Amino acid sequence: MVDEAGKSDLSVLAAYVRYSNFRSHTEEKTAMAADNGRDEQAIPVENEVQSMEVPAGVDRRTFLMRSAVIAATSVITGRAMSAEQQVARATAPAPALGTKMSPDLNVVKKSKGPIMTVIDEFYKVGPGPSSSHTIGPMRITYDFYQRCTKLPKEQLAKATGLKVHLFGSLSATGKGHGTERAALAGIIGKEPATVEPEFLDSLASDPNQTFQVKLGDKTHTVSLKDVVYDATKGDFPHPNTMTCKLVAGNETLHELEYYSVGGGFIEWKGYQPPKKGQPKYPYQRMKELQAHATKNNLTIAQVVMANEVAVSGKSEAEINAFIDKITTAMVNIVKTGLKLPSSTLPGPIKLKTKAGDVYARAMKDEYEKQRGIGVVAAYALAGSEENARGHLVVTAPTGGSAGVMPALVYAIGEGGRKLPQQKIRDGMLAAAGIGYLCKHNATLSGAEGGCQAEIGVASAMGAAFLAQAHDQPPQVVANAAESSLEHHLGMTCDPVAGFVQIPCIERCAFGAVKAWTGFMIASNEIPANRRVDFDTTVDAMALTAKEMNSKYKETSEGGLAVSLTLC
Ligand code: SF4
Repeated sequence: MVDEAGKSDLSVLAAYVRYSNFRSHTEEKTAMAADNGRDEQAIPVENEVQSMEVPAGVDRRTFLMRSAVIAATSVITGRAMSAEQQVARATAPAPALGTKMSPDLNVVKKSKGPIMTVIDEFYKVGPGPSSSHTIGPMRITYDFYQRCTKLPKEQLAKATGLKVHLFGSLSATGKGHGTERAALAGIIGKEPATVEPEFLDSLASDPNQTFQVKLGDKTHTVSLKDVVYDATKGDFPHPNTMTCKLVAGNETLHELEYYSVGGGFIEWKGYQPPKKGQPKYPYQRMKELQAHATKNNLTIAQVVMANEVAVSGKSEAEINAFIDKITTAMVNIVKTGLKLPSSTLPGPIKLKTKAGDVYARAMKDEYEKQRGIGVVAAYALAGSEENARGHLVVTAPTGGSAGVMPALVYAIGEGGRKLPQQKIRDGMLAAAGIGYLCKHNATLSGAEGGCQAEIGVASAMGAAFLAQAHDQPPQVVANAAESSLEHHLGMTCDPVAGFVQIPCIERCAFGAVKAWTGFMIASNEIPANRRVDFDTTVDAMALTAKEMNSKYKETSEGGLAVSLTLC
């Protein structure tokens, strides 16, 4: 179990690692200096790089940064490079950037103005394995069907069927995520929170099933053939773009373009966000959130709760009831995942599940203090394997990362420390605040920002959750989230065969353990001494997302998705 002994063990481990890291860098530098002294011809030294003139047409910062990287690479690899070669490399055009996002999308525009997201938009129950590829598309087709029911009778009388076209990342990796099944379920009136996983499983085992959909006086037959995997590349407003059509033969009677913008959130062409109340404590950055907390002598959770009430118009009791529903779902997901015997997950990877085995063996670990890490990892594997089975999960913030938060909720509740539910509610509010900040200032979508945006954010939320649930002050909550997010920066999204299994399942375990490490470091250091603040790290994630090659954004065109050979 994760107990006080485990806590101190983790803190000490984290402290050891930081010390040895500092030492190894120092020793490395000394060794490199000695090497340079022996072979200055072969390896360019720092002074040479800094004395270079910045060529015309290149900004100084970029030039110096690239030069430094090239020099460092030369030192590390021991491969000589002339000053001319270095200049040529440093002034070469930057690699093609990832998929662009339309400035018209609300998910892009909303970064101006205070955060207006509320908790029941953020934590959503739905089928795995990917909120943007299953929950989002199902919500989209459900929305389109509802719109069609309101069309004029004459238009509905002409209709012969419904069609859905998937583009970009939805098309590139949708088959592995079961996007066509989710999209079909939405058309026939199923919603993510209530769809039976068995129904989606049956579509996989019997893809030729047909269903009747009533629109006006007519009944249409729909099947998986009505969901089309369309162009993967193009100038789409969002990497997860889809169109829904009501057709009469080859003629389109009604069409709407939709975007699954991450975490199960959806938008459509011309989308206007719903009218909401104004937040009591407006903030768009962590420093503003912390300032509200400090000025009003509140915790991060209390500031978030006050805004939930003001923006949603719901009472605290209603919001707490929603949180309880979500945490109960999380606990059930972990328990189900732990209980199921080892089996083979759907898809070509033939990946075996292992949550139950890891849990059982961790509990028998002869080093009692070490059990906590294995147990937390097993809880996260359990949640993530449920996601990979296509069973119900909670987006926190997404389906791919849906093993992280349930592991921590279970570890400090029923499956470990047994903290009171009020502490868990507080933690969930602080975690939501972290998720909102990442969504507002960066992204929650692997297709837009790589895995740093999914498991990185989940881990940051988890660290804030733990810190808040343990009554840590706002600075420690922010520091814990920062620490966890910082150590996911740059993490790419490269799901093998387009299935949310490798690397996603184990990555959730690492995300949960890193969340605990972030909490341990933040709650044991002197808070004011932390050199990097949360906002800075979120900005770094946004920048990294923008510059990440699209191969590493849920397209399965890079990384493990191409290096791993499936037999
Ligand atoms: S690699 Fe990360 S971002 Fe990509 S599908 Fe898996 S969990 Fe999601």
